[in-house]
Amino acid sequence: EISFSAKNIGKTYHNLLKDDTVALSDINLDIYKGEFISIIGPSGCGKSTLLRIIGGLDKPTTGTLTYSGGENPELGFVFQDSVLLPWKNVRENAGFPLKIKKIETEDNYKKLDELLELAGLEDFKDSLPRELSGGMKQRVSIVRALSYDAPMLLMDEPFGALDAITRDHLNIELLKIWDKTKKTVLFVTHSIEEAVFLSDKVIVMSPRPGRIKEIVNIDLPRP
Ligand code: ADP
Ligand code: ADP
Repeated sequence: EISFSAKNIGKTYHNLLKDDTVALSDINLDIYKGEFISIIGPSGCGKSTLLRIIGGLDKPTTGTLTYSGGENPELGFVFQDSVLLPWKNVRENAGFPLKIKKIETEDNYKKLDELLELAGLEDFKDSLPRELSGGMKQRVSIVRALSYDAPMLLMDEPFGALDAITRDHLNIELLKIWDKTKKTVLFVTHSIEEAVFLSDKVIVMSPRPGRIKEIVNIDLPRP
């Protein structure tokens, strides 16, 4: 079942003092429900631009986007630097979307607590962000993105700022969460290793202009 589909997406940035930048050209992509897809490619090949367009944070110059869940659903985002509210504890930060969306039901908080446990944060619910390691903060921001029923989770180099050991650790945690929630995930990374470890499919992009060069199916047993 298709979750999301992009047809002929192009994106050109108009710059004030230099020539236009064609960030994306001719992007065609179908994403199926429950897939874990990584996007890799050199710096500047349009990975972030593509993710932002899919997430509705930016508009494409050409082409169409189709979401199975209706128009412009709000998708869960995790960025490299998780911005947590410093005066709110882990549970309040992770549950912030429930508050904003006014869906603070008992049921949703029960799901939130399950996710916090799955992410190994059950003993840190009352901790403030400054008391957490970098890896723990990213885990809070993953739970936050999953706290409401977003149809897709978009992650832009979520572990790019972490050391290698923490990163490996979080990759395993993320797979555990993915296995339980069966959420469709689109994951941007610099690391081929990380992409192959996590994904069902790896989208390889090439720069100038940003295009999909190749889509590789990964068929490795999951840990
Ligand atoms: P990646 O995430 O693969 O590094 P980006 O999507 O960030 O690539 O950028 C793709 C291209 O678009 C790059 O050439 C970049 O300089 C350019 N670009 C990205 N954002 C903007 C912007 N807001 N204005 C102008 N050019 C941009
Ligand atoms: P991660 O790999 O998720 O970044 P760390 O390697 O930083 O986690 O920490 C591993 C474990 O150490 C955490 O799951 C937590 O139990 C504990 N820990 C890390 N930072 C703190 C802290 N500031 N206070 C208490 N315990 C911590």
